[in-house]
Amino acid sequence: RNMIIVRSFTILLLLSCIAFKLACCFSSSISSLKALPLVGHLEFEHVHPASKDFGNRYQLLPLAVLHPKSVSDIASVIRHIWMMGPHSQLTVAARGRGHSLQGQAQTRHGIVIHMESLQPQKLQVHGVGGGPTPFVDVSGGELWINILHETLKYGLAPKSWTDYLHLTVGGTLSNAGISGQAFRQGPQISNVHQLEVVAGKGEILNCSERQNSDLFHGVLGGLGQFGIITRARIALEPAPTMVKWMRVLYLDFAAFARDQERLISSDDDKFDYIEGFVIINRTGLLDSWRLSFTPEDPVEASQFKSDGRNLYCLEVAKYFKLDEDRKDVMNQEVKESLSELSYISSTLFSSEVTYQEFLDRVHVSEMKLRSKGQWEVPHPWLNLLVPRSRVNEFAKGVFGNILTDTSNGPVIVYPVNKSKWDNRSSAVTPEEEEIFYLVAILTSAVPGSTGKDGVDQIVKRNQRILEFSEAAGLGLKQYLPHYTTRHEWRSHFGPKWDDFVRRKSRYDPFAMLAPGQRIFEKSP
Ligand code: FAD
Repeated sequence: RNMIIVRSFTILLLLSCIAFKLACCFSSSISSLKALPLVGHLEFEHVHPASKDFGNRYQLLPLAVLHPKSVSDIASVIRHIWMMGPHSQLTVAARGRGHSLQGQAQTRHGIVIHMESLQPQKLQVHGVGGGPTPFVDVSGGELWINILHETLKYGLAPKSWTDYLHLTVGGTLSNAGISGQAFRQGPQISNVHQLEVVAGKGEILNCSERQNSDLFHGVLGGLGQFGIITRARIALEPAPTMVKWMRVLYLDFAAFARDQERLISSDDDKFDYIEGFVIINRTGLLDSWRLSFTPEDPVEASQFKSDGRNLYCLEVAKYFKLDEDRKDVMNQEVKESLSELSYISSTLFSSEVTYQEFLDRVHVSEMKLRSKGQWEVPHPWLNLLVPRSRVNEFAKGVFGNILTDTSNGPVIVYPVNKSKWDNRSSAVTPEEEEIFYLVAILTSAVPGSTGKDGVDQIVKRNQRILEFSEAAGLGLKQYLPHYTTRHEWRSHFGPKWDDFVRRKSRYDPFAMLAPGQRIFEKSP
């Protein structure tokens, strides 16, 4: 008994020593950080918001939040931590909008950089009115929606988007940035000319295809591991003003996918945007569409019944300029393109909206969900990249079997062309396939529920999808990946792993950046 008491006492003493050491460590870190001359400021009190994200499942409380007013603020803080040496426990996480799902923009007891505070001078749009290929220089913390508003003033816009625009440039470029334009334009990381990056020793580096190209390719899709993106030069193109937006339905996944692939493979400009989604167990769907879409044939559309079967909705858009394009010619072309597809003829719905409304469409849903208190709920989302050759098998197993009810969020499915991705970037795609599908299972959980709409059950279901895919050897990759072991990360990156590790030790040797991705640990 005495032995137990002595042991417990020793453990208690040890723990107290560790706690004391940590407290000393933190207080000396705090005072040295407070002494840094910054244009912006470090916040030590009100840090809770930086411990949350859109996923609403992970919470790590940082020591402080940096609100940088200049790039040198970011460089100073990183340089300061670098100078503390590898034994300092401090890490640094850039935070865009915090729209990560599993704490990727968080750090326990480290410094979160609130990237939106990094106010640039006015966005600089170049190449207006012809001349060189247009581009815009933006801050890494800029929201895509602001870039849209600013560039549209010059009749220009970025080429590649995400479905939702209230995300930051640094956040999406650290992943890939994919939407319905990616089949033709590539992901956002394929549409960047140049970056300014603060790397892991606090050095400010410019990089592009020609300058520091190893860093440039590494940072794109690099999950924030090699540096903080403080500026980006984004490619622009002349912007349309209007969008003809159409939806059609299929009962057969194979026919739906065949048509999607036919459309993304065609060399002509049939459509400018191609996506799709799966509809499982939904009633009254076409009625809800009628609020914003008009059926081509109202009588037939009203008679359409899905009888509880899965439906696959192809969503396409054609851009045009009201003043330049002859609308009847455009409508005729669209009609011809649609006539080559094998959708259920009574289910053609269309709508005409401004380009801005079209691109900002998810924000409308956001506002609705916010007003009902359904935006800030847990989001156990699963995003996958599925090789084309196995997508039918995936659909059969997952849409036909595992996902029997997805009323709480969309399931997006569309193919993209791998040739539009630069294999030198850090982004990971399925190997050896020319076409792969993005499958985004975007389920919202009901807070506190222990049933099938609760977060635990949804996470389990996601796990079943991953296990099914693994067992069938489908060769898919996670997008916005999340793993817990080194082995899983190694297999995720596959042939890119060695380069990833090499770049980490070159650009962030103490592994202090983006610890929330849980790929590397800061050396003790
Ligand atoms: P954060 O979540 O804040 O950061 C993401 C990661 O990048 C973190 O590791 C962070 O440390 C790092 N990071 C952030 N800023 C920088 C920087 N400046 N430099 C270096 N590293 C940085 N993605 C798509 O591709 N297509 C979509 O259509 C799409 N739709 C979405 C819709 C919604 C409603 C939501 C919530 C997300 C969507 N996403 C989509 C995912 C989105 O791309 C990611 O959430 C991404 O992380 C961007 O969010 P963020 O700017 O808030 O970045």
